[in-house]
Amino acid sequence: MGIGPERIVYPELWQPESIEEARKIADHVAPHYQWAAGTTLLRTQWEMGTAPVPKHLISLAEIRELNACTAEEEGLCIGALMRLNACGAHERVLTHFPILSQAIDVISAPSIRNLATLGGNIVSGVGDSIPVLLVYEASLRWMTDTGLAETKLTDWLEEWRGGQRNADHFLTEIWIPLLEQKPEEGSHTVSFFRKIGRREAFTPALVTVAFQGTMNAQGEWSSLAMAAGGGSGTAMRLLETEQWIRQFSVSGLSLSELMKHVQDEFVTISDPFAADSYRKQAAAGLFASELWKSMRSARYSV
Ligand SMILES: Cc1cc2nc3c(=O)[nH]c(=O)nc-3n(C[C@H](O)[C@H](O)[C@H](O)COP(=O)(O)OP(=O)(O)OC[C@H]3O[C@@H](n4cnc5c(N)ncnc54)[C@H](O)[C@@H]3O)c2cc1C
Repeated sequence: MGIGPERIVYPELWQPESIEEARKIADHVAPHYQWAAGTTLLRTQWEMGTAPVPKHLISLAEIRELNACTAEEEGLCIGALMRLNACGAHERVLTHFPILSQAIDVISAPSIRNLATLGGNIVSGVGDSIPVLLVYEASLRWMTDTGLAETKLTDWLEEWRGGQRNADHFLTEIWIPLLEQKPEEGSHTVSFFRKIGRREAFTPALVTVAFQGTMNAQGEWSSLAMAAGGGSGTAMRLLETEQWIRQFSVSGLSLSELMKHVQDEFVTISDPFAADSYRKQAAAGLFASELWKSMRSARYSV
């Protein structure tokens, strides 16, 4: 009786150089294929046996047009194949969407971020970039089996949650609308991203929170968005909590009430590492403490 490694069945690898070529290959080998980008998550899933090795692997990594960051009139367009390190360090991302850079900086380790892509992080459904992209109100551009299409990230996450996402579509670009160019005089922007992991580095998140808001000179919110995620739970916008906060000027906001609202609204998961109640409490505490710090630095009292 021989003892040896189990036979590994390798997929047939396809490396198209254009979006159209990728679509044609997929139509040719359907339904036995999977899209791949940096393969950092895929190879881990194959090694752990949590996902089957597909018969055909279509790598999008050679499609150059999907590896760029371009300014459009009203927004920034990030190619889905942009490596996380390049994306986080990109001048336009740093200038216009700083908390996206912050979120990217705490994904895994530099060696992984050199390979991993923003698109792969999003399509994984649980990537740490998602809460930040939710508060920036990002949209996703896809190559579908009938041509190009755009969906709001929130809508796509709903499909993901309901197990209805179409795995035949591939993500081509992430579009983020630019924030107001000339903020009102005396206004103040509050934005933060925080991640709690099981240990300090190189670890999946237990909880992630993101916040983006602008207050006018009177301390009233002129815009406000908050999102939470973490673990293998799907991130979500906290729309009811946002609406509740908007009723108050900053000095009238009760942080203990805020924490209750976050805990009531945030839907998350329990797993062997943390109960959902812990995740809710941690998210609520992060929002309250970060808002308190931001308000103090803006000289509002809460
Ligand atoms: C050690 C380690 C630590 C990690 N730590 C973190 C962490 O802290 N935070 C975090 O968020 N993630 C983490 N990850 C997960 C993973 O590295 C990231 O989510 C990464 O961004 C995935 O990108 P990728 O290009 O490697 O995706 P891939 O592995 O190539 O693909 C991931 C999934 O997305 C699909 N896919 C990829 N690109 C496309 C596309 N353009 N269109 C359609 N489908 C597509 C693939 O079919 C696959 O299902 C970690 C992974 C490892 C191995």
